[in-house]
Amino acid sequence: MKSVTVIGLGPMGQAMAGAYLDSGYEVTVWNRTPARADQLVARGARRAESVEAALTANELVVLSLIDYDAMDAILAQAPEAALAGRTLANLTSDTPERARQAAARLAERGAVQITGGVQVPPPGIGTPDAMTYYSGPGDAIEAHRPALEVLTGIEYLGEDHGLAALYYQVGIDMFWTSLVGYLHGQAVAEANGISAEDFLPHAVKTMDLRYFLEFYAPRIAAGNHEGDVDRISMGVASMEHVLRTTQASGVDDSLPAAVLKIFRQGVTAGHGQNSLTSLIDVMKQRRSRG
Ligand code: NDP
Repeated sequence: MKSVTVIGLGPMGQAMAGAYLDSGYEVTVWNRTPARADQLVARGARRAESVEAALTANELVVLSLIDYDAMDAILAQAPEAALAGRTLANLTSDTPERARQAAARLAERGAVQITGGVQVPPPGIGTPDAMTYYSGPGDAIEAHRPALEVLTGIEYLGEDHGLAALYYQVGIDMFWTSLVGYLHGQAVAEANGISAEDFLPHAVKTMDLRYFLEFYAPRIAAGNHEGDVDRISMGVASMEHVLRTTQASGVDDSLPAAVLKIFRQGVTAGHGQNSLTSLIDVMKQRRSRG
């Protein structure tokens, strides 16, 4: 009998446990708030009465938690021996460093971590195009490939546990900032009487950045920031227009103000006549102020 444990039953963990049930797995579940397991239990899942029981029920344990602190809090409830011989597919989002530290700590306790970053929302689990970044020991991933592929396809990045977390965070960086850009633009549109449905075809065209990414990526890789197509000085003027339009619409201006600030940093660094892509070097040199 194919069997797996799922720890963490937020929307993602519920979708994962459900996909295993649909695929005929014997599924053991545990969640801090036990009631979140009720529907899965009604569909045939077994509710573990303790973290120890959840860990020892199966060799493969899928973790889907809000962060690695939650994982630490949960694993601290079980004796160390409960981890020995387990493979933990940790599909919890956190930083690359946390992923590496957790894998090392688990190894000391006789367990293997497979680190994953899921690239679809919960309804995408079990659908053909779904994909997860994985890193960590390739042999453990191969050994559990059939079970992992119940959830999504596998994009294996290498042995370094930090890689899956890094690719995930880079993608999320791009995703959230783009999506907030859409929401801000739509707020300006709505303040001027243009509904989301009316603007949708224009938003779809504007947000389709594929042409720009494919144009810029080879130039970035080659270190070519020539201002032959776009210049940061143009970006400054353009963002000033966006800022003033936002303010005249009575909409919060913190997002365009932040973008304008970044463009002005590019000018201050001497790149006013260079392409926007030279902002990559400016951002790397300034580093985090946090
Ligand atoms: P959440 O990120 O909100 O995670 C909820 C789970 O974490 C619940 O099981 C919750 O338990 C548990 N949890 C939170 N804090 C603690 C704690 N201190 N101790 C023990 N358990 C805790 O929900 P999702 O299911 O949406 O996401 C799970 C993971 O999947 C996250 O890392 C997320 O980044 C990632 N992911 C999510 C996507 C999505 O669209 N939802 C898409 C791609 C990845 P309780 O029920 O008791 O609160």
